[in-house]
Amino acid sequence: MPHAAEFTPITISLIMGLELLRKGPSPDIVIAWKAAIDEDDAFSRIRCPLCSWQPSASSLWACASFGTPEPYFGGCGAIWNTFATRGKCPGCDHQWQWTSCHRCEGWSRHADWYATERG
Ligand SMILES: [Zn+2]
Ligand SMILES: [Zn+2]
Repeated sequence: MPHAAEFTPITISLIMGLELLRKGPSPDIVIAWKAAIDEDDAFSRIRCPLCSWQPSASSLWACASFGTPEPYFGGCGAIWNTFATRGKCPGCDHQWQWTSCHRCEGWSRHADWYATERG
């Protein structure tokens, strides 16, 4: 078995904040998110409040402060699964209040993505 790459080109293409990637963030800030996720079940209760898209454990977001409703803070360029940390960037500890959808590209409050137990 060859070593599995942490990020495949397909995965990278899904990352929002591609503009930032073009500028070339340091590989050091690409966070290994897999270790942070202990159960896929947690993701079944997470969905986009706008279109009901459900992120998976392999969905990735970038810490980039442009084109977002988030107050400007610079963005450190870290790439991680934001639902593994409840919106907290592992690169700069910024607590994201907003999370974008990979399908409809809309922004919603991070807390609004968590479906309640009672629906
Ligand atoms: Zn950050
Ligand atoms: Zn959506």
